[in-house]
Amino acid sequence: MANIAENIQKIKSELPDDVTLVAVSKTKPNEDLMQAYDAGQRVFGENKAREMERKHEELPKDIEWHFIGHLQRNKVKYIAPFVKLIHSLDSLRLAKEINKRAKNEDRVIDCLVQLHISGEETKFGFDYDEAVEFLRSEPMKELQNIRIVGAMGMALHTDDKSVLKSQFGELKSFFDKMKKEYDHFEVLSMGMTNDYEVAVEEGSNMVRLGSSIFGPRNYD
Ligand SMILES: *Cc1c(COP(=O)(O)O)cnc(C)c1O
Repeated sequence: MANIAENIQKIKSELPDDVTLVAVSKTKPNEDLMQAYDAGQRVFGENKAREMERKHEELPKDIEWHFIGHLQRNKVKYIAPFVKLIHSLDSLRLAKEINKRAKNEDRVIDCLVQLHISGEETKFGFDYDEAVEFLRSEPMKELQNIRIVGAMGMALHTDDKSVLKSQFGELKSFFDKMKKEYDHFEVLSMGMTNDYEVAVEEGSNMVRLGSSIFGPRNYD
């Protein structure tokens, strides 16, 4: 069994102070989240809307819930009342739906634009050119109830450091460029258990760690 509190303390002591740790608790039971909570962790990441909604209801109210996986438009309503940050904004249609639901809730929802950085065919997210076009587009400017606060990307699943370095490095350059254009562009979410050390070296300020905190998952 994973010693969750110890894992959190060790990871936190090694991360630079300006890097936010998102504890990715998808598939994990409330007891595991509470062990992390009791060790001081307040930011949790989930990738299923209904699971996140349930955990939000059952767990302490000072937890910040981050949505990290592909978000289906018909699921936005379940998380709109409370989600703190959506890492996976990957289309205008999704942006419009989040905006609509945020408006219903009388709130502004912070989102990260998800970039497709791994070179794989199947992954969600914008290419760099598409992302720039999306961010600058007229329809985006009209959405008053979402705020784009940065970017997120997932590198190829590999141990080849030079590949990771170049994929994260490109995303950092994109981030720096957009930061000059957008006031609130502040969050660069990159790095998972397998690659977060490289991601942090390349300028990540938010890492999403699951298995290094909670142990391996049985399913995703
Ligand atoms: C599952 C998941 C993570 C965490 O993965 P680990 O390898 O367990 O750290 C991070 N980001 C996203 C988008 C995920 O789906």
